[in-house]
Amino acid sequence: MSSEAPRVVVCGAGVIGASIAYHLALRGVASTVVERSEVACAASGKSGGFLALDWCDSSPLGPLARASYAMHAELARRIDIDYGYRQVTTFGVAARAAGGIGADNGDAGAAWLDGACTVYARLGGTDTTAQVHPRRFTRALMDEAQRLGATLVTGCVEGVEVTGAPPSVRGVRVDGAEMPADAVVIAMGPWTDSACAWLPLPRVDGLKGFSVTLEPTAPVPAQALFVDYVDAHGERLSPEIFARPDGQVYLCGLSDDQPLPDDPAGVSVDADATAMLARIAGHLSSAMGAGRVLKRNACYRPICADALPIMGQVPGVAGAFVASGHNCWGILNAPASGAAIAELITAGESTRVDLRPFTPARFSAAAASPVGRGATRPLPG
Ligand SMILES: Cc1cc2nc3c(=O)[nH]c(=O)nc-3n(C[C@H](O)[C@H](O)[C@H](O)COP(=O)(O)OP(=O)(O)OC[C@H]3O[C@@H](n4cnc5c(N)ncnc54)[C@H](O)[C@@H]3O)c2cc1C
Repeated sequence: MSSEAPRVVVCGAGVIGASIAYHLALRGVASTVVERSEVACAASGKSGGFLALDWCDSSPLGPLARASYAMHAELARRIDIDYGYRQVTTFGVAARAAGGIGADNGDAGAAWLDGACTVYARLGGTDTTAQVHPRRFTRALMDEAQRLGATLVTGCVEGVEVTGAPPSVRGVRVDGAEMPADAVVIAMGPWTDSACAWLPLPRVDGLKGFSVTLEPTAPVPAQALFVDYVDAHGERLSPEIFARPDGQVYLCGLSDDQPLPDDPAGVSVDADATAMLARIAGHLSSAMGAGRVLKRNACYRPICADALPIMGQVPGVAGAFVASGHNCWGILNAPASGAAIAELITAGESTRVDLRPFTPARFSAAAASPVGRGATRPLPG
């Protein structure tokens, strides 16, 4: 790379691509972000937006999560856009479709949970758990990046152009035309898998999850719920419920094995799965049960064989970088991931976060498949 600011193309405007563009802009690099559909059109716009300080402590994600959690508080102060950041209290809740379980949850501070359910644990307080509205957060990062000089281009990345020996990046192919670049970052969430045809990258799978957003009939406190739910057939489900500052309530936690469609706009919603989520909401609280369902959604979280992100330099191709595979913690981990990749591109190394556990080079050819799936989010303790 020359001593002038490198021409950086970021592929994908999910939360990871937007955070990289924002942090590059803070470092004086005005990147070009290429997005096939819309900013936050996929998981980054349809996820829970739950943040936890210490829930990843027992995994290599721990330091990344702690750094990101602190950065979320800092970003909410620094960025002059309201994207629904707030601290929340988080409970573990047991619920049964068949009833036979229930308590006065008022003692726990959750009197609004007046259905067949019991608060059995306090999983986090306002010092350790928080939330953002993920679509608004992603858009805020992208808006800020653009305000600081980044350019957003609508187009489909179809390949990476590489030249020379040893190979180095010359540009990306976007809708049939070459866009010159000194550095390219693949941040296409589960669609990063298509980049395996362009660069030596490990496989990234997409795990589909459903969600429902509803408007309760009474205000709901700033709480997040991780529910152990046994349905009428005895099947155990793990829905997650996040009350949002705009008065709406978001539920997710049901997944299925449908393959990732080629086009992010082609993700289908399953009526049975979303109806089930709405039913569970009704089992827990009359305010949710009588509420109006506003949105039914589906999206795919990106996941690698060991369920950890791939972040760093693509082995053997100068100027090629990847940031994907953030699994169920991409909204939480976007700030430090973006800062680390921006530092790696501009300064040659990441001092803020140790990226070694996430190097894409950790997978041997044999380990590159099959892809593992961490279907549920690990709870603390
Ligand atoms: C149901 C659900 C709930 C979740 N809840 C939480 C939570 O509470 N907290 C948390 O921290 N995380 C949560 N997650 C995880 C989080 O949403 C993801 O880890 C994160 O959104 C991944 O972001 P990304 O930018 O890597 O990918 P994506 O959001 O998938 O973005 C990738 C972008 O790349 C674009 N793209 C794809 N191919 C191309 C191409 N060829 N050219 C140009 N652009 C392209 C897509 O259009 C898309 O905009 C949840 C995930 C799911 C599914």
